[in-house]
Amino acid sequence: MKIIDLSLVIESGMPTCGTPWHQTVKVEHMGTIDTVGRNTHSILLGSHTGTHMDAPYHFIETGHTIETTPLETLCGAISVVDFTRFKSGSVVKLEDVKQIQVTERMLFRFDWFKKWKTPEYYNSFPYFDEDAVDYLIKGGIKLMAMDTPSPDYGGNIQSKEDSPNHKALLKKDVVIVEYLNNTDQIDLTKKHTLVALPLKIKGSDGSPSRVILFEE
Ligand SMILES: [Zn+2]
Repeated sequence: MKIIDLSLVIESGMPTCGTPWHQTVKVEHMGTIDTVGRNTHSILLGSHTGTHMDAPYHFIETGHTIETTPLETLCGAISVVDFTRFKSGSVVKLEDVKQIQVTERMLFRFDWFKKWKTPEYYNSFPYFDEDAVDYLIKGGIKLMAMDTPSPDYGGNIQSKEDSPNHKALLKKDVVIVEYLNNTDQIDLTKKHTLVALPLKIKGSDGSPSRVILFEE
């Protein structure tokens, strides 16, 4: 059984969502072997840092928070969808998702992680049409994972039209997993099992997560 690590490395100064209020990531020595006889680090990061998960509370005031997300949703069989044909700025439409079988856990592979640490990563990632996401929700999706920063168009953050897909998914308790890494290592002819574990942070709207895939 092969294990594929779908998580980005967390490191000081790594890119984060381009809003001025997002915490800059700092991973720094607190103590060293020289000074206190051991190495320890302080870790400062936002809940949406690197490969991470969104809980309903991210957009829904009464939604549940990350530490109560059922592990049954986060671990289990997952279908991987090859959407690598969707390039910069393109939109996944209803007719595109109608061609695939909707399952409880779905991973959409765009190979967009290859743009990580380039300006393009946040500027022109492919995203989903609202009708397409609605179709997935009605089909019974419980976890939607992708190697882009968001299932939504990224150009209108904090406007009235901001993040309709996030809102629709989270309202229906669908977990969103974003910023996956290494999706080109997935063999699409094989079967896969997902393990996606957020930190158990009380009251948080999301958490950086270690996401791995078992390949049969
Ligand atoms: Zn997020």
